[in-house]
Amino acid sequence: MNDANMQQAGNYDDCTHDCSSCGVDCPSRDGGIQKAQLNEYSSVKKVIGVVSGKGGVGKSMVTALSALAATRHGYRTGIMDADITGPSIPKMFGIHTKAYGSDYGIIPETTPTEINIMSINLLTENETDPVVWRGPVIGGVVEQFWTDVYWGDLDVLFIDMPPGTGDVPLTVFQSIPVDGIIVVTSPQDLVSMIVAKAVNMAKLMNIPVLGLVENMSYITCPDCGRRIEMFGPSQAEAVAAAYGIRLLEKLPIDPVLSQESDLGKIEFNEGTQMESILGVLDDLGLTV
Ligand code: ADP
Repeated sequence: MNDANMQQAGNYDDCTHDCSSCGVDCPSRDGGIQKAQLNEYSSVKKVIGVVSGKGGVGKSMVTALSALAATRHGYRTGIMDADITGPSIPKMFGIHTKAYGSDYGIIPETTPTEINIMSINLLTENETDPVVWRGPVIGGVVEQFWTDVYWGDLDVLFIDMPPGTGDVPLTVFQSIPVDGIIVVTSPQDLVSMIVAKAVNMAKLMNIPVLGLVENMSYITCPDCGRRIEMFGPSQAEAVAAAYGIRLLEKLPIDPVLSQESDLGKIEFNEGTQMESILGVLDDLGLTV
């Protein structure tokens, strides 16, 4: 039976469970896991996952800056901090309050510019409490952030994904209907296989890669304004071209960004970083 017939008949007997050599959108591709239902009182038009091959490359920074750019341009925006073992979104936005329950679900925190934020740090008793849970429990919590949080009516929800290509990101991709991902990388990772792994995982899961961001790409000399590429000439264009994905931005190491993020004041950043996200939202058919 060919692929089209198989789909039509809902018959997947020939399935080899090797999705890399098959284009059929069968249950095996999703690991047989049903997508979770969004909180019944909420609506979210588009979901964008922000991923990285490993931690510490600026995934949360890019998530925050993307959300800020979207909000500034009139999109109703939320951030789901799915980096359960290393949550940093609340700290960047200076959020130290707790989420609370209501008849509609768990109420996320809303920032002064009205970005809705949910993170494990809004639920644990102390912000410094470590999360020492096994993968399935962490995956379950992220799923609950989708099913049980009252997000309201959002145009776009950015998910700060758990780093890497392991158990937890896999569960998130399987249980939440992600419309596409943005891959964040450092210059060194671009020349290694880390980016390739993230991109290939998205392909396996049938999730479009909406763009690549090279973070910490260069520094600008404070005296002469010259760009210094500390890790040698950027490979970002070449890597993006090799994988056929859009290079959204090359972000410099900017001490102002790290300071604002450390002080919980990222929302007051007046830069134009990650405005490239507007093109992505446009391509996804979102208009304001
Ligand atoms: P990840 O989410 O990938 O673990 P973060 O976004 O938390 O990484 O960034 C790690 C650290 O680097 C944070 O302290 C953050 O403030 C800082 N940082 C990230 N990007 C930049 C940048 N472009 N300029 C300056 N500091 C940055």
